[in-house]
Amino acid sequence: MSKFNYDVIIIGLGPTGGVLANLIAMQNLSVGILERESNAYNLPRAVHFDDEVMRIFETIGITDKFLKKTIINKGTRFIDQKNNILLDWPRPKIITENGWYPSYRFHQPDLEKTLRARLANYKKVSIFQNSEVYNILNKKNHAKVFFKNTLTNEDNFFKCKYVVGCDGGKSFVRELINSGMEDLGFQQKWAVIDVILNAKKLDLPDRTIQYCSSIRPATYCRNVGRRRRWEIALKNNNDENEFLKNKNLWKFLSRWLKKEDAIIERKTIYTFQSAIAKTWCKGRIFIAGDAAHLSPPFMGQGMCAGIRDASNLSWKIAFCCKKFHCVKLLNSYQSERYQNVKEYISTTMNMGKLLNEIGDINVSDTVKNKKDGSKIMSTIKPKLGPGLGSVKDKNRGKIFPNLNLKNNLIDSYFDLDLLLITKEICKINLIQKLSGEEFIFLKEVLNKLGSEAIIVRPDRYILSSTSNKNGIEDFVIKTLSGLYN
Ligand SMILES: Cc1cc2nc3c(=O)[nH]c(=O)nc-3n(C[C@H](O)[C@H](O)[C@H](O)COP(=O)(O)OP(=O)(O)OC[C@H]3O[C@@H](n4cnc5c(N)ncnc54)[C@H](O)[C@@H]3O)c2cc1C
Repeated sequence: MSKFNYDVIIIGLGPTGGVLANLIAMQNLSVGILERESNAYNLPRAVHFDDEVMRIFETIGITDKFLKKTIINKGTRFIDQKNNILLDWPRPKIITENGWYPSYRFHQPDLEKTLRARLANYKKVSIFQNSEVYNILNKKNHAKVFFKNTLTNEDNFFKCKYVVGCDGGKSFVRELINSGMEDLGFQQKWAVIDVILNAKKLDLPDRTIQYCSSIRPATYCRNVGRRRRWEIALKNNNDENEFLKNKNLWKFLSRWLKKEDAIIERKTIYTFQSAIAKTWCKGRIFIAGDAAHLSPPFMGQGMCAGIRDASNLSWKIAFCCKKFHCVKLLNSYQSERYQNVKEYISTTMNMGKLLNEIGDINVSDTVKNKKDGSKIMSTIKPKLGPGLGSVKDKNRGKIFPNLNLKNNLIDSYFDLDLLLITKEICKINLIQKLSGEEFIFLKEVLNKLGSEAIIVRPDRYILSSTSNKNGIEDFVIKTLSGLYN
């Protein structure tokens, strides 16, 4: 028997843990998942994800089933109290460079169920519910994870090569590795009210509306099916229990709904905040998702960021499990993800300021003037922070487009290895699957990138590029040796 119970232990089976477990299981590694609760959380939180995240869902093989439970999101408008559009962020129904529509709406419990169902396909994955982790020993060559069965109070432990805390905003693992949080400065209480309409109501907006106001900022979300959400900022002197009383909520909602139009599925108060953990990894222990960063939801990017963490970390951990413990590879996780998530959080905070009427319309450098004087925003696309590859390489850290090659997206041609793409057929083959003819389809992309060859990582980001036609073999050797040493 192996001296390890599992290659990887994941603590927490929310969306981050669920995606990470799938990505690691795909690498034919064993995964033990410890989850405190007895079932998946059955109420909505996240309602939006983007094309890059859909690309990750496609990688783990859940889009066929899950797509049916989503709708395409039309975008977001920020309006003032006189209903003037201050800022428009349209998400047109056009396939993006990620191979999907720009943005989708969904019901978080549907996603969590789909992720769990997919995990059931892997023999080497075990899910332990009612299992609360209370200690981890971080050893040189392994980690020991101690947990308690919350029903029987029995203690147990597992030995593994790596542990990832996907244990949410109040992360115990973050505390255990002594990581403080860097407070980015946004903190505000908001009530979140989820309703289910009794019948179609076509006069409600078909996109997200951000109602900017210094008195009562609010958000309306057009969610899937008959689900709709309103989020309302609280003032410091608001009594939370009083605020959440149905009579008060219906009074607020009366601008859009009559009481007989809908039932309230859930009402709760969240403190929306912005913070990033200072340490994401210590020895054999990592944190990901809300454990590593917190964001207000105005861009719908909190969960998306956690799923990007999972995509970044999974192939690095898989490499270390299969080959050797490579500190350089593992350390690149925090530095690459930190900068990327920080840009999303900063833009979100700017949106929060605009919502509260204390900020500027220029929430990001993608905001442009329209001819009629109003402002329009396009989606931000932050690069990875410094890590693997050279920061001097202008293409490094950009996401590689998911091109349509002969009716197949390029993602379907490569699995979980590095991919070399050259303009000419090259002797060194990091992948075997593309034929010469298909290489030619990629020439145009390489032309756009100003490159003769590029290497794409398993998470679909560009690792390195070269414009030197005659030095491709050297380029590959140099890139690969720089990856691990
Ligand atoms: C109102 C609202 C709206 C949002 N809207 C969006 C949106 O539209 N789009 C978006 O991308 N994001 C959104 N988010 C953010 C999103 O919901 C979170 O980022 C996401 O749920 C975090 O996922 P996670 O897996 O990292 O953590 P969680 O979902 O919190 O999961 C953590 C898991 O760890 C388990 N756990 C904790 N401690 C232990 C322990 N010691 N032992 C064992 N198990 C443990 C918990 O039981 C839980 O199941 C929104 C958030 C809110 C509050």
